[in-house]
Amino acid sequence: MVVVMKLTAKPEEIAAVKRRLEEAGFQAHFIHGVKRLVIGAVGDRTVINSLGLEALPGVEKVVPIMKPYKLVSREVKGENSLIKVKDAVFGGRELVVIAGPCAVESREQLFAAAQGVAAAGAKVLRGGAFKPRTSPYSFQGLGEQGLQLLAEAAQLTGLAVVTEVLDEPSLEMALDYVDIVQVGARNMQNFRLLQSVGRCNKPVLLKRGFSATVDEWLMAAEYILSEGNEQVILCERGIRTFESATRNTLDLSAVSLVKELSHLPVIADPSHATGSRKLVIPMSKAALAAGGDGLIVEVHPDPARALCDGPQSLSTEDFQQMMEELQGIAAAMGRDL
Ligand code: PEP
Ligand code: MN
Repeated sequence: MVVVMKLTAKPEEIAAVKRRLEEAGFQAHFIHGVKRLVIGAVGDRTVINSLGLEALPGVEKVVPIMKPYKLVSREVKGENSLIKVKDAVFGGRELVVIAGPCAVESREQLFAAAQGVAAAGAKVLRGGAFKPRTSPYSFQGLGEQGLQLLAEAAQLTGLAVVTEVLDEPSLEMALDYVDIVQVGARNMQNFRLLQSVGRCNKPVLLKRGFSATVDEWLMAAEYILSEGNEQVILCERGIRTFESATRNTLDLSAVSLVKELSHLPVIADPSHATGSRKLVIPMSKAALAAGGDGLIVEVHPDPARALCDGPQSLSTEDFQQMMEELQGIAAAMGRDL
């Protein structure tokens, strides 16, 4: 449930509500809206009536939340959450495009990709330093050396940087180098990792697991918010279906639906969703038309030689073309790109 405070609520009244909740075993999360403070109370719903919260000074009303997720839900916070990373803002009027190689392979490869995507208008550079590969014999990433290259590329171009973390050691290491940490599809229900990124103070890009329902995905985000980190960007990256003609099936209805259900920004990954370079531009357009707040796209200066996910990677020239073609969709959606 949420406790909606009056516009005039005084700090000591807010503190008294928090105390009452915590004494009854609830966790109290402050959610600062544009106008008023709402306190998300997570705990045993059956005892709520006995707390007499509505009678406390400064309280406007107490609203039960029916959904299994609370802090991520629009019932708790009506307006979009804005997540600022360098000069990009996710969830606002601007559409934010993240682009770069699947994996950091070398200085030359990363810098060529970074300069190409920055020139075309991307705001965030992606690049995996720790790769969760299906085969233990495939390229696993450059580790800390890859993180160092990402930080250098960020300095050179002014881009923000996102990288995937696989576990606590890689998270600790990545926090020294990057602006956003990514939890990948394979780790979406790694609850310990979700709690760890929930305790860090950087934004988290949370991909949807390939077999996860929308509710499970939002519950994964709830883990992060419940640890205190409200900066979560959701990413639809395709789910497994009977269809084998594409690598996954991009669930665009989930993009529109999650924008309704949650105040968090939602972006789409047309690269992992389709597995095919040719489908990346059309599915990018479709994701923005569905209400997505941005995209994450794989770009490699020489896709034919990529160590990972070459067939779905755009060249820097293709990416430039994509950004031009997206202008019309952005305008039609009343967004800036
Ligand atoms: C990635 O973005 O590098 C990645 C591995 O994606 P996903 O977790 O969506 O498969
Ligand atoms: Mn990839």
